[in-house]
Amino acid sequence: MGLYNINEDKVTAAVNSIFDRIEKEGNPQKICTCSQCRTDTMCYVLNRMEPHYVVSNRGLARIEKEAITYQQKEADIVSLIYEGINQIHHRLRPFATHSNTEEPCEIEHTPAFMVPGIIGRIFNGMNFAPLEEAQIELRREELLVSMVDSNWQNPYNLVRSIPGIFTFLPAPLPATSKGIHQKLGFSLSIKASGFEALLHSFEVPVMSEMLRTTFFSMERIFRLPDMYMFPSGEEELPV
Ligand SMILES: [Zn+2]
Repeated sequence: MGLYNINEDKVTAAVNSIFDRIEKEGNPQKICTCSQCRTDTMCYVLNRMEPHYVVSNRGLARIEKEAITYQQKEADIVSLIYEGINQIHHRLRPFATHSNTEEPCEIEHTPAFMVPGIIGRIFNGMNFAPLEEAQIELRREELLVSMVDSNWQNPYNLVRSIPGIFTFLPAPLPATSKGIHQKLGFSLSIKASGFEALLHSFEVPVMSEMLRTTFFSMERIFRLPDMYMFPSGEEELPV
């Protein structure tokens, strides 16, 4: 029994059918229809819709029941898809191959430090509830760190639907050869209104390897310790 977002199937099917149609009609606008760009478009649309979770074994009944309400949303999905295609078309992932052959990764022969996804959580130190609003900046040597593509934000703003959780996926950093072990220093600066600003420095161990085009993987995640913020102006509590 798992959680399941019924919008995923809807959006996946709709995006594929629109891209297939673009290909069939000769693609006069030369839109990239590779699997990466399709996934990016799905991601764009899903991030702009309310997720619609169901418990998987009860999902079908729920879909049936809500099919009617859904008809009206269909048009919104389609217009979001076109908006997404337009956005992604103008900001193609610089590191992706944009080829439809499912070539595994090492197409580029450039050594690089592949930085893992960075995940952290922020809580209100007074009541241990996850914070709903905060802005988090990821910096390295004072500069804001570039993300792999425009689906990832830096600074990251917490979203109400996922309280307290922030994520970053830094772009790979150039390396002189593969197999070099290094610790990359980063710092986080967290600001939330009504709270004392928080600074946290940390190091991520990395090893250089040949640049790959798939960046995000659940196996490559760096989890930060939970962080707690305290209201500004509060007296320090005696320990
Ligand atoms: Zn593409």
